[in-house]
Amino acid sequence: MPSAQVSEIFNSIQGEGPYVGVRQVFLRFQECQLHCAYCDTPHTRTVSDSCRIEKKAGTGDFFNVKNPLDREHIEENIRKLWTPSTKHVALTGGEPLINSGFIKELELEYPLYLETNSGFPEKARELRDIIDIASCDIKLPEHEATDHYHELLENELETVSIFNETAKTFVKLVVLAETTIQSISPAVEGIASIDRDIPLVLQPVTPAMGKESIATGVLLELMDFAGEKLKDVRVIPQTHKLMGLL
Ligand code: SF4
Repeated sequence: MPSAQVSEIFNSIQGEGPYVGVRQVFLRFQECQLHCAYCDTPHTRTVSDSCRIEKKAGTGDFFNVKNPLDREHIEENIRKLWTPSTKHVALTGGEPLINSGFIKELELEYPLYLETNSGFPEKARELRDIIDIASCDIKLPEHEATDHYHELLENELETVSIFNETAKTFVKLVVLAETTIQSISPAVEGIASIDRDIPLVLQPVTPAMGKESIATGVLLELMDFAGEKLKDVRVIPQTHKLMGLL
């Protein structure tokens, strides 16, 4: 039976990107290959033997189980947490594509919404036919996510291109106080060279981990710069943090 290192399973409301407000069951995997300075889930970047599962959808009341979790156990808990207004299973992390082999084996009757840092194009290729919606992050140099930025950017753009062929795909750029037109330019040009119709979300960082918010004037300049190359550019903050949701 396939198994995975899972951080948590719960039901909540999507707080980021164009699907903000949509109810989802979140399956949050452990492990991530990057180390973004603004990471809001640092506890999921490494493996731990404990996973928490919400007892009943929307209660925020959890019980703990021991990792790794086998496929049937995960599927059973996702079904228990499904509600009439729930629309997708959000595969998140950490970096869920590290578990691409496991995800491929999942037997669920629900649409899959993937939140990825886009760093593993070969794993994206494995999953392209089963992912319904792909939320693809592209990292900026100031995120300090990696020591090999250009290699990461190349992989991210390839991942976007792979999912764009089969899934509803959008790109998310987290913008910081130090973000400039120069720092977003390679990402924006890269997306435009794949498909000008791919929606781009500029997500102002939620002040955390010592990171300050971007000035509104700069944000609007970034938006116009991207808007010259791409057809659908939006600014959407993390709304689940505003609402105090999981
Ligand atoms: S990719 Fe996501 S989980 Fe990984 S370090 Fe960056 S913000 Fe954290």
